[in-house]
Amino acid sequence: MSDKNFPPIGFGSAAIHAGHRQDPNYAHLTPIYATSTYVFDTAEQGMRRFSGQEDGYIYSRWGNPTFTEAEEKIASLETYGLKIGNSQLKVKGILHASGMAAITTMMLSNLKAGQKILTHYSLYAGTNDLCHQILPQLGIEAIIMDLRDLGKTEDILKKEKDISFVHIETPANPTLQCVDIEAITKLAKKYGKKVGCDNTFATPYLQQPFKYGVDFVMHSTTKFLNGHGTAIGGILLGTDLDFMNGKATKMQRVLGGNSNPFDAFVLTNGLKTLEIRMERHCQNAMEVAKFLDGHSAVAKVHYNGLPTHPDYSIAVKQMRHPGAMMSFELRGGLEAGVKLMNKLRLCLRTVSLGTSETLLCHPASMTHFSVPKEQRQQYGITDGLIRMSVGIENAVDIMNDLEQALED
Ligand code: PLP
Repeated sequence: MSDKNFPPIGFGSAAIHAGHRQDPNYAHLTPIYATSTYVFDTAEQGMRRFSGQEDGYIYSRWGNPTFTEAEEKIASLETYGLKIGNSQLKVKGILHASGMAAITTMMLSNLKAGQKILTHYSLYAGTNDLCHQILPQLGIEAIIMDLRDLGKTEDILKKEKDISFVHIETPANPTLQCVDIEAITKLAKKYGKKVGCDNTFATPYLQQPFKYGVDFVMHSTTKFLNGHGTAIGGILLGTDLDFMNGKATKMQRVLGGNSNPFDAFVLTNGLKTLEIRMERHCQNAMEVAKFLDGHSAVAKVHYNGLPTHPDYSIAVKQMRHPGAMMSFELRGGLEAGVKLMNKLRLCLRTVSLGTSETLLCHPASMTHFSVPKEQRQQYGITDGLIRMSVGIENAVDIMNDLEQALED
């Protein structure tokens, strides 16, 4: 039995132990609580739980012990080593069915008709669709611009009084553009706006947006946090505990975007190896990026670890390592890209990211197909761009596969 008075010190230890509570039947792992509802000892107890006078589970759309461990583990990693004065920063996490469910809760609990959201222009396509297609139906306008231009960002914040929320995704999918979290948060706070950050590509091991004062962090836990491609999931975390326990919880419960016990169980167990996986992912990615950068068939590599990446200095400032995501363009354009993808023997042709396996996809026709071509071009998602999530195989095998696939 672990001792509660012996708090883990290292990030890797926290990833393993944080959020875990002793199972009443002494199971080593928190079981998959496959239950929709929870029995009350008495009617009065049920009343106390509903009124909030007593803590405890009521109904699994509202919470489940298997969700709680994942929520508390991710919350402790996102705030690992972060203090306010002498106290540990505390955030509340709400597990969701998907990254999109988490981002929807975040946006709908923070924005109402007549208000505006300001965001960077290279976003995951689902987020882009939410901003361009769904929010306007609710009377919420999205202003999408290059938030790396701090002067223009300040002009917009000054001019557009109805902006109430600033959302950033950094590094962004699939261009790997990075937004300076500290600078944007400072500007947003100067004008009294709330800030949300999608930390999916980085994970809390590489980047902790709460360090810079953002109000919300969200993830598609489907990716590196799960790490094995075994479930879809998302999480929303926030520093304002009253807001998280109130408005955000209400929104999640009413929209019904809850997780499920199996997905939460595999997420919790994936999280335990986050540190060693990310170390290996990033080490492999750097080797693969250098290999591609030096290859005669490759025209351009977008990787935050290469000094040629336009946002290299921002990545160095706010990330522990430059991550495991990259994209590249071949000299032969789209045709050469299709040929490369069809010749892969070890790496997989698929969307998603953050798994043990190396995954390659073609954003313009796959993940970002719903983004109109003019927008894609403006964001830097060219027709020839190939996105790669570098896995944790031996780097030499990934490079050998790419080498044979790039051969004429
Ligand atoms: N945010 C980013 C950066 C993503 O890459 C994705 C999915 O690829 C999402 C959000 C949406 O997550 P999910 O697919 O879990 O809903």
